[in-house]
Amino acid sequence: MIRECGRQGRAICQVVGERRQASLHCRRLNTASSALCSPSDDCLPDGAHTVIIGGGAVGCSIAYHLAKLGQEGVILLERSELTSGSTWHAAGLTALYHPTPNLKSLHYYSINLYSQLSRETGQEVSFHQPGSIRLATSPDRVDEFRFQMSRQGHKDAPQKLMTPEEIQEMCPILNTDIVLAGLFNPGDGHIDPYSLTQALATGARRNGAQLRVRAEVTGLQRRPQGGWDVHTKEGRVIRTLNVVNAAGFWAREVGSMAGLDLPLVPVEHQYIVTAPIPDVKRLKREIPVLRHLDGSFYLRQEREDCLVVGPYESPDTMKIREDWLTRGVPPGEGKSVSHRPHIWGVRGVTPIIRTDVTDGDSVHSAALEPEGFGKELFPSDVEKLSPHLDAAMELVPSLKTASVKSVVCGPITYTPDALPMVGPTLLPNMWLAVGFSYGIVHAGCFGRFLAEWLLTGEPPCEVIEVDPLRYGSWTDLPFTLAKVRESYGLNTAVTYPKEERFAGRPTRRVSGVYETLVQRGAHMGFQFGWEHPYWFAAAGGAADYCPSFYRTNWHEAVKREWELVMNNIGVIDLSPSAKFILSGADSFKFLQYVTANVIPPSEDVTRCRTVISHCLTSSGKVHSELTVTSLGEGRYLLVSGGSSELHDLRWLEDHARQGGYHVTLSNVTDSMGCLGVAGPRSAQLLDSLCEPGHFENFPFLSARKIVLGGVLVTALRISYTGELGWELYCDQQNLLKLYNRLMEAGQEHGAGDFGSYAMNVLRMEKGFRMWGSDMNKDTSLLEAGLGRFVKLNKGDFVGRTAVLQEKRQGLQRHLVTLAVNTDNVDPMGDESVHCAGKVGEMLE
Ligand SMILES: Cc1cc2nc3c(=O)[nH]c(=O)nc-3n(C[C@H](O)[C@H](O)[C@H](O)COP(=O)(O)OP(=O)(O)OC[C@H]3O[C@@H](n4cnc5c(N)ncnc54)[C@H](O)[C@@H]3O)c2cc1C
Repeated sequence: MIRECGRQGRAICQVVGERRQASLHCRRLNTASSALCSPSDDCLPDGAHTVIIGGGAVGCSIAYHLAKLGQEGVILLERSELTSGSTWHAAGLTALYHPTPNLKSLHYYSINLYSQLSRETGQEVSFHQPGSIRLATSPDRVDEFRFQMSRQGHKDAPQKLMTPEEIQEMCPILNTDIVLAGLFNPGDGHIDPYSLTQALATGARRNGAQLRVRAEVTGLQRRPQGGWDVHTKEGRVIRTLNVVNAAGFWAREVGSMAGLDLPLVPVEHQYIVTAPIPDVKRLKREIPVLRHLDGSFYLRQEREDCLVVGPYESPDTMKIREDWLTRGVPPGEGKSVSHRPHIWGVRGVTPIIRTDVTDGDSVHSAALEPEGFGKELFPSDVEKLSPHLDAAMELVPSLKTASVKSVVCGPITYTPDALPMVGPTLLPNMWLAVGFSYGIVHAGCFGRFLAEWLLTGEPPCEVIEVDPLRYGSWTDLPFTLAKVRESYGLNTAVTYPKEERFAGRPTRRVSGVYETLVQRGAHMGFQFGWEHPYWFAAAGGAADYCPSFYRTNWHEAVKREWELVMNNIGVIDLSPSAKFILSGADSFKFLQYVTANVIPPSEDVTRCRTVISHCLTSSGKVHSELTVTSLGEGRYLLVSGGSSELHDLRWLEDHARQGGYHVTLSNVTDSMGCLGVAGPRSAQLLDSLCEPGHFENFPFLSARKIVLGGVLVTALRISYTGELGWELYCDQQNLLKLYNRLMEAGQEHGAGDFGSYAMNVLRMEKGFRMWGSDMNKDTSLLEAGLGRFVKLNKGDFVGRTAVLQEKRQGLQRHLVTLAVNTDNVDPMGDESVHCAGKVGEMLE
């Protein structure tokens, strides 16, 4: 069928660069469909609402969800055939379990979607849900499971702690002598990734999306009027409002077409498929998917008589494809694939390679080194899996006599923290859905997540851990490589509360006092590329990292620092805070509109004021928390959390552009340092470094420019500790000088260092909320108990309508403070709180 392709001269939307309004506008006016080509046309359309690059599980899921949400003009471009990257050869595991709170609910969405997809699309997806058991073979691991159980009560997906006997009953082929406990997740299982992708593609097409194969994207050009020109290999150009990069292990290259340097690394991952095993054939029902965490492998049943074993090698033995980073992914071998893709060359094991490990309907073998990538695999290296296979044979003794039917070794794309990058970049209308190391289970939920964000301009829920802007220019190649090695290699390591990882640190992003603080016994934490002090060892002691599920070795240090601030003076390096200077004719008007509190005017340099003001989403949730200080002459200093630097910058820039405000935002996070000084004697100390009386007489929430100990500082009378205190901002180059002056003069006042762990205790006691945990894009200011920061009478601002509605309807949730009496374990956040049959959740 050929539809009319004639009216190609105009893009579907008049691109105005306003992501949200434009996308909704397109949906409402329904202007998209008529001028577009059908998938069967031999010409590509030249206008689109959204072009998705990549037809793997992720790209197809985005197309499916955009189309299902009613968006027209959705075009997916795939260079080869659908599933030609990592998807076709994945082991297909789908897990409800995830250690981080936000991701649990997303996994839940994927599993629910997959269980009804066959019905909806008519495409069988071979979804098996025998459940999964994570196995503990060490006491620490049992503690980890108990810790995870304590955080599950308020979630949709149930999980259960199992005894070895219960595990044995479910999995009669196991040697449970080595097993101490198991964490059972009903609903977990595995799916055929190829069929899943085809089902999503079918659903996408049915709802109007166009999926074009053999359409390689070769260039991306930003259009001056907004939106993008997408160039294909055939020399065609598609004008589109949005571009989504979902190009799997090519995503780094596709990103570079738009000038992005994405921290993505291809890692080799292998799994083994056994020949039929009689003990497995005798099983009465499919065994749950097993994860032997201390042995670092997963194991699942394949059909009625085989097993799949997939190990994660250690940081030392894993293999990264660094050559792909320097020279690019080699070109595919370009063969046409009419049905299922085939596998190239496996060396060293029985060379029987099936095209699809789930169905196993045809066999192909070859012993060739791959020339390029697309539908190929790496040569296998079973030798380096030996320690894991030994552990597998100990767990499942019948593996000892089983033969290997095939080995699949393919590229998985890793980010430094092993989580995907999903969302908008700082380039308007350029979106990412890349870096999926678990892209089969994540395809469903992140397809929906990205589609909603793209259509409404706001993420549907808080998953800041996958925001692409959690990485910045400090994420260079050495850091990325070191982190990927650590993340893959420690894939199954015990995850402790307040988990810290040390590879690739420090980055070049260190403050002027970093070396000094380390010498003074600081235990440094990592935040958005920065090293910042968590706590300080006592004189003569060591600031070692000894994580535990029980009370930790830093507990006493934090108590000491808490006492220091409560009784004397504490000094803390706050340089990692995000800092922006806002200037321009509309700066006041802009802040009034994009934040919820009343903003002080900024004309008079002698009357500088500070206010806490929140950026709300249009649904009234808390996007960001800003400390806004008027500096005079229309300028403002905006300070927000270190880990949300680019996340907040993007939001401010987007709103400035969309609203046509005449403002300039400069990111001064690196060049401006900050020290916090807090405690009852802090005014005395600060007065001793300048003309006396300045700090004794310094009203709360005001700001002054002062020379302090020879350093020009902007001093804000505010402290997150809740005690008397100041934040002192100065040139990063002068930070050490300022610190030394404070410590020299502070000796007689009993001044000392404190870290962010003590700061957190102090602010909790005061009841100060923390953005990210106590309030975020899932929580409103009213729910967080911060209604006094919303000024509904000041005129219109983003989120005002939603706050008014929330006030009318009343609150369903409240944040309250709990005191927990305990002597050997401390609450970490996300614990379930049971009270009179109801369940709440602990935030921090
Ligand atoms: C051996 C192995 C086992 C795995 N097991 C699991 C598992 O059990 N569970 C799980 O959740 N995950 C698993 N994974 C990971 C999973 O396979 C990936 O996370 C997932 O397939 C990524 O999907 P994607 O759509 O992001 O990328 P891909 O599947 O790689 O798709 C990207 C697509 O983009 C296309 N493309 C690239 N460049 C262009 C261009 N310029 N123009 C047009 N098209 C382009 C490619 O041809 C490709 O089809 C496994 C991976 C491996 C290697």
